[in-house]
Amino acid sequence: MKKAKFFFLVFSSLFLIITLSTGLAVFFSLLGILSALLILIISDVALAVFASSAYYRQLYRGELSEILLSSELLDIILSLFLSQLVILFPLIVSTKARSPLDVIFLAPLGLISCLILSLKFPPGLFTKIEPLSYPAPYKVYVAKFEKIKEANAVVSGIFKPRIILFSPLFEFLNDDEVKAVVAHEIGHIANKDHIKLLFGLIISIIGIEILALSIYYELVGDGVGGTLFLLSMLLAFFFPLLSSYYWRRMELKADLYASRVVGKETYISALRKLAEHNLLPLDWGSEDHPSIERRIEYVLKNCKNSEY
Ligand SMILES: [Zn+2]
Repeated sequence: MKKAKFFFLVFSSLFLIITLSTGLAVFFSLLGILSALLILIISDVALAVFASSAYYRQLYRGELSEILLSSELLDIILSLFLSQLVILFPLIVSTKARSPLDVIFLAPLGLISCLILSLKFPPGLFTKIEPLSYPAPYKVYVAKFEKIKEANAVVSGIFKPRIILFSPLFEFLNDDEVKAVVAHEIGHIANKDHIKLLFGLIISIIGIEILALSIYYELVGDGVGGTLFLLSMLLAFFFPLLSSYYWRRMELKADLYASRVVGKETYISALRKLAEHNLLPLDWGSEDHPSIERRIEYVLKNCKNSEY
C-alpha cells in the first residue's frame, strides 16, 4: 500500500473514532453541542495542517509526494467533516430533541447536506470542472485532477443532468473509447438511473430517522425504542443487499446502451483499458458495479448488432 493512502486510511479511521466518542459524550450529556462541533472542526484543521506540513517536509527533502496541498486534499477533508456530521447529528438530535417531530426533521441534516454536496459536486467541491465542447445531448465537463489517477465518469444533477469525465481518462483512451464512456453515462440518463437513485437516498434518510427515533424513545422511556432499533438494523442489513443488486443491473443496462452506440468491440476495449488503468482485476466486482468480466460477457451475449 502506498504511504499516502495508508496515511489517509489511518487518519480517517482516527477522525471517525473522535466523532463517535464526541457523539457519545453529547449523548451522555458530558459535552454541549457547540463544543462537539468545535472539536470536529479543530480535528479537521489539525488533519489539514499535518498533511500540508508532511507535504512541505517531503518537498524540502526533494522527495515527490503523492499528497499535494491542493483542491483534492481540501475535498478529502471536507468529505471527512461531512461524514462526521452524518454520525453526529442523529446522536445529538435524539438526545436533545423535545418531540419526535424534532428528531424526524433534524436527525438527517448531516446526511442531507452530504448528499446535496455530493450530487452537486461529484468530483469534489474544490475540484476544477471545465466544460468540454462535445457532441452529446447533455453537457459534458472534465474534472481536472492533479494527483488523483482514478479514471471515471459520473452523471451529476437530477433535473438537468450533466456528464463529468475525470481527466485521467484522456491519458489512455482513444477518441472512440472516450465516446464509449460518454455513451455509458448517456445510457444511465436515458434509463433514468440518476432519478431512481433518489429512492435509495430517501430510504437512507428514513433509516437514520428510525435509528434516531429509537434512541429518543429509549431515553424518554417509551417501550417502542427497542422495536425501532431492530427495524433500523434490519433496514441497514437488507437495504444495501437489495440496492446493490439493483445498481449492478443499472450498470449492465448502461453497458448495453453504450455498446449499441459505439459498437461492442470499441466498448469492450474501453472497459478493459479502464480496468487496467484503475488496477482492477477483471473478476473483481463492487457493491454497485459487476466485475469487468461479467460486464463484457453481458455485452457479448446481448449486443447482437452494433447500430454504429
Ligand atoms: Zn455506470
